[in-house]
Amino acid sequence: MPSDTSGFFISDGKCKRCGKPFYEVSVATAIAALMIGYLMITFFFNLLYISEEPWVKDIFGDYIPLGLEYIALSVILLIVMAPVMGAGIIPALKKRHSSAYGYACAECQKVLAQEAQDAAIKQKQSEEANAYAYMSRVEGLENGDPWLGKLIRSWKQDNPNKLPEESMINDLVMAKNMEKAGNFEKAAVIMEKYRFWEEAGRMRRLDDQKVIKHITVDMNELIDQVGTKGLAIPYKCSSCGASITIDKDSKKEGLKFCSYCGTAYNIDDMTKMIQSALE
Ligand SMILES: [Zn+2]
Ligand SMILES: [Zn+2]
Repeated sequence: MPSDTSGFFISDGKCKRCGKPFYEVSVATAIAALMIGYLMITFFFNLLYISEEPWVKDIFGDYIPLGLEYIALSVILLIVMAPVMGAGIIPALKKRHSSAYGYACAECQKVLAQEAQDAAIKQKQSEEANAYAYMSRVEGLENGDPWLGKLIRSWKQDNPNKLPEESMINDLVMAKNMEKAGNFEKAAVIMEKYRFWEEAGRMRRLDDQKVIKHITVDMNELIDQVGTKGLAIPYKCSSCGASITIDKDSKKEGLKFCSYCGTAYNIDDMTKMIQSALE
């Protein structure tokens, strides 16, 4: 395993593709490790030596220099060598193998470059295919859906030679679905976002109609429920103070305007009042 010989100094002392170690980086790292190891041993046993351990000279006298000055010397060399090797020489050797694709041997750099080129071509082809598919989708909507077609054509008139963004097309399809679902307000907001003012207005009018219809239906149901429960609910005109009674005989038409002063009743309030009486 190359990483065993390179030690903690380098994690990228080998080719990222084939895993082959960079020879001179491994050698430099091994030399650095040996030298630093040797200096540390020199330092350590000299400490023992000056604290008068007699066996040190017997065992290590032939291998390391002994004497007070070697303590200082080994420390100085360590301080100088560690950065020179660790931050200078070894990184410089590694750098010769660095490429746009990471640390790799010369052969693998060629392969990686080719792979990157192929990927770029593939990417471009798929982008072109996507763009074409998108263009077809827009065309399909433009020709296949009268409402969307009208909006897209009017947008194209304001933005000649351009294609609407995909987010806009998605929004328009959403607006169409919201209209179908009766959520006219949401559809109107989308129409405003793309400055289709008239369509926004049409959606809002649909929304108003929906509210009126909604309340009318509710009021009939509420009168039915009032009748079923046998309730008689007093309601006071907020304008003139005249009272009417809402019971099984009430007609929804009669609950729209005060018959004394002609003011339109607040249907919302009236609905809420009846609902709370029914609870
Ligand atoms: Zn390689
Ligand atoms: Zn009144």
